[in-house]
Amino acid sequence: MNNLSSNYINGQWQDWSGDTIDVHEAATGDVIARVPASGREQMEQAIAAANAAFESWSESTLEKRIHVLEQLHAGLKERAGEIAETICREVGMPIKLATGIQAGLPATITKSYLKLLPDFPFSEQVGNSEVQYTPVGVVGCITPWNYPLHQVILKVVPALAAGCTIVLKPSEIAPQSAYILADILDKTDLPEGVFNLVCGEGSTVGDTLIKHPDVNMVSFTGSTRTGSLIAHAAADDFKRFALEMGGKSASVILSDADLAKAVKGTVNNCLLNSGQTCTALTRMLVPADKHDEACELAAAAMAKMTPGNPLEETTRLGPLASAQQRDKVIDYIKLGIKEGATLIAGGPEAPESCAHGYFVKATLFGNVKPDSRIAQEEIFGPVLCVIPYQDEAEAIEIANGTAYGLSGAVWSGDDAHARKVAGKLRTGQVFVNGGDFNPMAPFGGFGHSGIGREFGKWGLEEFLEVRSLQL
Ligand code: NAD
Repeated sequence: MNNLSSNYINGQWQDWSGDTIDVHEAATGDVIARVPASGREQMEQAIAAANAAFESWSESTLEKRIHVLEQLHAGLKERAGEIAETICREVGMPIKLATGIQAGLPATITKSYLKLLPDFPFSEQVGNSEVQYTPVGVVGCITPWNYPLHQVILKVVPALAAGCTIVLKPSEIAPQSAYILADILDKTDLPEGVFNLVCGEGSTVGDTLIKHPDVNMVSFTGSTRTGSLIAHAAADDFKRFALEMGGKSASVILSDADLAKAVKGTVNNCLLNSGQTCTALTRMLVPADKHDEACELAAAAMAKMTPGNPLEETTRLGPLASAQQRDKVIDYIKLGIKEGATLIAGGPEAPESCAHGYFVKATLFGNVKPDSRIAQEEIFGPVLCVIPYQDEAEAIEIANGTAYGLSGAVWSGDDAHARKVAGKLRTGQVFVNGGDFNPMAPFGGFGHSGIGREFGKWGLEEFLEVRSLQL
């Protein structure tokens, strides 16, 4: 078991002897690590360190920042195997996918900023004015458990690049990769105090971070419920904030689409990371006359997704990350049955082959009513709702008919048709006929899914204030 009994503050590992939080192996429920349930005092120390380091780091040269990010990139590549296995065990994502996504994306994102930075205009001339883009200050980063290192990197890398100093509070459910990151950064030439890590509960250390007057910005990824708390807290002293929150994304399959391809693409997307993905396509909208055929295709695709040990190379569906998440998803499956949706595959019982750990069967509901709770609320598990529609106008209305607006997909045999419908979706991104994920394109949500954008230049701009010198 890993005893990660410290916080990283002001360039030092500070031992912690108080209460700890157990970290569980998703596939067995065993305790695999313990991390500090730090108190407000540790968070205050970390904020003070970040504050003290700000002036010097904010004035550092771009070359120096790029140098540190190159060292970080090399460290992420070197420790990719360890990162993949750590997250596979904590979160439950199968090792093959965890290697490509959980360990691969952080290195890809870091590289994308290394490419972008040399040409980023940190100042520009507008008439008689010099417009300067200057670091926002001390940034509090608060992150969730589903892609634990990826979400941290999306904040830490552009914030460091902007010249900000950082206090990171990672998810207490999947915190171990944040320790690997701190260890990598500790071995770089990053000055002390620029990056700090404090582990603990949201209600204590998270609360201190979002309310502290010396924190200039909170960059948050997590649930809409916590995002709302952060927006309220930030309003009290006009902190800046960026929020990446939940989703209930629709896959709109138009009548002229290749149905088999569209259903397969939707199912694969929905079940990625056992449905624990904010952008998961969890509502599949199909023409009413193709509903039954679409359900048959989806059930066949899901049948190939038998749950198994995520450490095995052949596993495609792992467990959920925690007992709490498993129970929440099972409750939603029971709710779907109660609401009158047709249970086509899966169900609330634990899968036969997986007696231990936090497994849930891949579950398919047909004839789901668009206003039912399973079609409106984020379930965050391997559950797909098939919703029939009569015509395209109704499909668009249903797709836009939740409080969320993070992602979506449109499938059509005619690209122009697909793009036209994509342009009507009130979401931050839309995948058109299975288009590839692009780490240089902006990512974020409309409505209850978010405020602000991550990735590429948009992610960097979040951490910059604008000043204009009138000359
Ligand atoms: P969560 O909101 O419960 O927790 C996220 C973080 O907030 C954790 O570090 C937690 O400790 C902290 N926190 C909780 N209460 C707090 C408080 N009162 N003050 C300060 N911090 C507090 O979310 P989660 O369950 O860890 O993650 C799942 C959610 O994250 C889902 O809704 C998912 O859609 C969302 N998510 C969104 C994106 C995106 O980019 N839009 C990406 C991944 C996950």
